[in-house]
Amino acid sequence: MAIRSRRAAVVVDVGGVKIGGNHPIVVQSMTNTDTADVTATVDQTMALARAGSELVRVTVNTDHAAQAVPRIVEALDKSGARVPIIGDFHYNGHLLLKKYPECARALAKYRINPGNVDIGRKHDDNFRTMIEVAVENAKPVRIGVNWGSLDHALLARMMDANQASAQPKPPSEVFMEAMVASAVESAESAERYGLPHDRIVLSAKVSGVQDLISVYRSMAARCDYPLHLGLTEAGLGSKAIVGTTAALAILLQEGIGDTIRASLTPPPGGDRTEEVVVSQQILQALGLRTFSPEVTSCPGCGRTTSTFFQEMAERIQSYLREQMPVWRARYPGVEKLRVAVMGCVVNGPGESKHANIGISLPGTFEEPAAPVYVDGRLMTTLRGDAIVTEFIGILEEYVAHRYARRS
Ligand code: SF4
Repeated sequence: MAIRSRRAAVVVDVGGVKIGGNHPIVVQSMTNTDTADVTATVDQTMALARAGSELVRVTVNTDHAAQAVPRIVEALDKSGARVPIIGDFHYNGHLLLKKYPECARALAKYRINPGNVDIGRKHDDNFRTMIEVAVENAKPVRIGVNWGSLDHALLARMMDANQASAQPKPPSEVFMEAMVASAVESAESAERYGLPHDRIVLSAKVSGVQDLISVYRSMAARCDYPLHLGLTEAGLGSKAIVGTTAALAILLQEGIGDTIRASLTPPPGGDRTEEVVVSQQILQALGLRTFSPEVTSCPGCGRTTSTFFQEMAERIQSYLREQMPVWRARYPGVEKLRVAVMGCVVNGPGESKHANIGISLPGTFEEPAAPVYVDGRLMTTLRGDAIVTEFIGILEEYVAHRYARRS
């Protein structure tokens, strides 16, 4: 049973998606297209939304990007993809939001990085301008601190104060404290400039797992704003997925975090939607949300000498994922379905009985037969070359019968 004690007291509405309180933890993602390229950005946003991203962030860094935003939102609306779009601003957000009011209106939320909005200035006029635009348009903001662009002036002040103290802390500790201070103090400033308390989400991202955990614990103790979690610049491949999962799992288990993103670097030409799937899998593995049926499969061993078993597990997993956009609407509760695909009889029948529907394939030297269990009972035994097709047929029938919408 998950232990979640600290959810944000405040609920922020982002274009109809609620973040905080007892609302489900929201999955979000970010495009990596040139935002000025409307077609590419719309296509990728739709792919992210189809994969399950409930909010999508786009870079708004140039005049062309700001001009493209209303067209992107309009195209998404026309296509029926009603995913709220968040604008990611750095350095020139105050200029773009003022110059392109239709962009300011079209976005569902603005992400402001307090470390680079007023860089080198002695006041926070640019930050204030962005907050005033948010107030005028009744938009929420995320105050998103990143350790790669932490407010230098604030950090210098805190480092100096630490040096002058009787018992100076290690600089790394002061750095993390500065991250939290930058987020929380910026939120307080935003409220002074008129932004309501329930229009603010905070984040303070670092790329080290232990640092992220300590920053978020500290931030959660200091405020009740909803928190956006993510291990920034997580990296590539399994390193990124493991790091993100390790950090987010600990925080989520403690009740810290109201929306998440997995910041994975995709390989060239890679699928951007992987970051959505990873976020969903983290939440589903922790038992916090359910997105799609789970396939339990064993790792295989010397008893499975062919690749047939791996291919079958992969085919069934892909098949389930492909069906979900249609199944979700047609068969309420189908995301809770549990399927087992096992490599041999050692653990196969046992694991199959724990699933809604399970199959255990014949291992090496076993009789070429694959028993299929449905709701804990042996239903049939498949043989021959069409095992996968026949198993998928049984699966379809089971789903249609078990999850059909009752009128
Ligand atoms: S279920 Fe069979 S094939 Fe799978 S890991 Fe266990 S012994 Fe090996």
